[in-house]
Amino acid sequence: MSVTARRRHLLLGGAALLAMPHRVFAQPATPAAPTGPFSLPPLPYALEANEAAIDARTMQIHHDLHHAAYVNNLNAAVKDHSALHAMPIEAMLAKLPELPEGIRTAVRNNGGGHANHTMFWGIMGGKGGQPTGELMQAITRDLGGWDAFRGNFERAANTQFGSGWAFVTVTRDGKLAVAQKPNQDTPLMEGGRVLLGNDVWEHAYYLRYQNRRPEYTRAWWNVVNWEAVAQRYAAAKAGTLKV
Ligand code: MN
Repeated sequence: MSVTARRRHLLLGGAALLAMPHRVFAQPATPAAPTGPFSLPPLPYALEANEAAIDARTMQIHHDLHHAAYVNNLNAAVKDHSALHAMPIEAMLAKLPELPEGIRTAVRNNGGGHANHTMFWGIMGGKGGQPTGELMQAITRDLGGWDAFRGNFERAANTQFGSGWAFVTVTRDGKLAVAQKPNQDTPLMEGGRVLLGNDVWEHAYYLRYQNRRPEYTRAWWNVVNWEAVAQRYAAAKAGTLKV
């Protein structure tokens, strides 16, 4: 086998790929040239950053392939609708019934997927633990305290039949609630705001956990970045929180 052929074999062989050291995965994927108004945001940390709950290979597939596909499909949906090109995704989702009927489902699924995953990457990469300050006070006030919140959030994630998400929503006055949504639906579709959310599509956890979703949703707390969530909480109250 020539050196080039061997390289190709190493790059393309699934078993060889899995055996490659993790730092290989940490190389940022070269972003494809944008073909529309929306683009895939780079991960804000290395692929191994969520190893305490999510393996690097799952992170790579989830971000570089799944999220990228939502962005590409969203761009394709709005391609011939230039009036929508300057509209932020959260506004587009809040105005779904006003969009051209022919692209409504595509925007709901792929725009929802883009918004949800952008939020998802942003609230992970942390060390878990517990929030502090105002956010913890709101959890105590609105969600029955830390232990009750964790239990109820995991239950929402575990009982979502099929693909979907568990969310914590936040109002402008800081009030929190747990919500459950199918597919790529999001509270943004009701004009709400998302404090945090966990993806319970099988693509989010199947390589490590297979059918054991509750193990994934329990481990997931280990990688939540509560500083990032606290910033989202402050932004929600300031009216500046986007996706
Ligand atoms: Mn996902």
